[in-house]
Amino acid sequence: QSQDIEVEAPEVTPAPEITIMSTMKAAAFSPGGAENLYTSDVAIPEPGDYEVRIRVLASAINRADTLQRKGLYNPPPDASPILGLEAAGIVDKIGPGCPDSVLVGQKVMALLAGGGNAEYVTCRYEQIMPIPKGLSMIQAAAIPEVWLTAFQLLYFVGKLRKEDTVLIHAGGSGVGTAAVQLVTQAGATAIVTAGSQKKIDFAKSLGAKHGFNYKEGSFKDKVLQATDGKGVDLILDCVFGSMYDDDAQLIKLDGRWVVYGFLGGSQKEANFNMLLRKRVQLLFSNLRFRSVEYKKQLVQEFSNLSTPLFESGAFKPIVDTVLPLSEISQAHKLMESNTNMGKIVLKVSD
Ligand code: NAP
Repeated sequence: QSQDIEVEAPEVTPAPEITIMSTMKAAAFSPGGAENLYTSDVAIPEPGDYEVRIRVLASAINRADTLQRKGLYNPPPDASPILGLEAAGIVDKIGPGCPDSVLVGQKVMALLAGGGNAEYVTCRYEQIMPIPKGLSMIQAAAIPEVWLTAFQLLYFVGKLRKEDTVLIHAGGSGVGTAAVQLVTQAGATAIVTAGSQKKIDFAKSLGAKHGFNYKEGSFKDKVLQATDGKGVDLILDCVFGSMYDDDAQLIKLDGRWVVYGFLGGSQKEANFNMLLRKRVQLLFSNLRFRSVEYKKQLVQEFSNLSTPLFESGAFKPIVDTVLPLSEISQAHKLMESNTNMGKIVLKVSD
């Protein structure tokens, strides 16, 4: 006997709508003033060979970004045109060729040739570093560019020795505050110049032995007096032109003079006789255009030295201000007002 059974039609649950995020917020600009900065929606980058993709939680700004914004500094040809030389966040995708030690979910800080002021960025796996325990993402984002620059200038270029006296210009800057800590940790002596007593006092609180306000006139005699007439062995110089005459006179015989910026002008009419007589090594350096191999070695050596020191509190990332990515225009204005001590960090995501 057959019986017709009325079978109730199963309730059909509509398939969940899957949203595949393909765009992200990123800093954008039309060349010009800080007011020309805005955020826009752009494609999320895909990691290429030997690259990871990072979901960025925090990034920071640098002087190079302000120059790039003005149309005065092109990024390397293979770099992202998006601003941002550093980021901290979480690895969310791994490209072909990365070693097994690189893992999705890893918390990292990264040195970038560009692209950091965005919700996602890709970079070579050699340029990521584990975040020292106890540091926040905001603090981590304040480290890569200025600390690696200071480390490079002092150790790779300037050949820092324990017995050196080092003159650091812009002692309250991002690079300057990192350099003071590195010099002090090495057992050498740091002297700074800066444009306010507040910055000098801050540099001293980080270990600088002396500080002089360059806005109060020539600092040559003050540095010579502070060094018993001997002068300094090494100069970390991001100013150049306007301070050249003082620097040339206060550097010692066989001194190393490392120029890495031109805040006081890149041109100088000078008589180089004194530098020849003193056998001064006048060296110029940059970081962004270095090879992957160079950056790999730099990142490894810096990480080995600094991780335990950040974890113990001996090294401090210096965060001046935190602003959301959407306020990047304000962040650039702040940097160009020369009032920040240490880093201006952009909070990108929670
Ligand atoms: P920052 O935190 O913005 O500090 C820069 C400070 O320099 C200013 O706050 C100001 O402080 C001082 N300054 C500005 N104009 C000056 C002038 N004409 N004379 C003397 N001091 C002046 O900068 P940062 O991010 O640390 O960068 C510092 C420099 O390093 C920049 O020039 C940057 O381009 C350069 N840099 C170079 C490399 C490289 O690889 N070559 C890498 C990173 C950074 P005061 O109140 O003391 O005047």
